[in-house]
Amino acid sequence: MPKTCSICGKDKLKGNKIAHSRSHVSGRTIRTFKPNLQKVRLEDENGTVTTQYVCTKCLKKVN
Ligand SMILES: [Zn+2]
Repeated sequence: MPKTCSICGKDKLKGNKIAHSRSHVSGRTIRTFKPNLQKVRLEDENGTVTTQYVCTKCLKKVN
């Protein structure tokens, strides 16, 4: 399963995961934000239907 959107090419992002518990171990670990990809069937101008992974932001533009 790809992790990029086939329309806008949105990739995964990196950020810091901050522990909110007040334990003695309060380290910051790097987490990744994945785009909300949905498997959709898209028809291009030639009429061929292909299944592609599209993020939900692009899905709003298509429909
Ligand atoms: Zn997209």
